[in-house]
Amino acid sequence: MAKKILIADDQKGVRNLLEEYFKQEGHWVITVSNGLEAIEAVQKENIDLIILDMKMPGMNGLEAAKIILQNYSLPIILMTAYAKSEIEKNAMAAGIKRCIIKPFEILELKDIVADCLKL
Ligand SMILES: [Mg+2]
Repeated sequence: MAKKILIADDQKGVRNLLEEYFKQEGHWVITVSNGLEAIEAVQKENIDLIILDMKMPGMNGLEAAKIILQNYSLPIILMTAYAKSEIEKNAMAAGIKRCIIKPFEILELKDIVADCLKL
């Protein structure tokens, strides 16, 4: 079933790749380039799942997720650069569903997304 996925990453290449992939999978995709825009998108659109980059200028992914999760109960996947990091622990504590370590295989992300969208 088609879902609305919000993708936030400051790298255009990552945004385009993920957008193309998840559109092909039959989902609606919205892309933004920072945490503040992600918060705005969640307020405007009926988002089902968020894929958030950790490292973005201005507001990072973890900060944005914390603000979003205060008002919305949404599955969030955080893309981080380091495995088993402090960031990952903080992310889980903040209510982020899953972390994925960059660089990753797109199929790995696909499985995590499918898992998070299970009702
Ligand atoms: Mg980044």
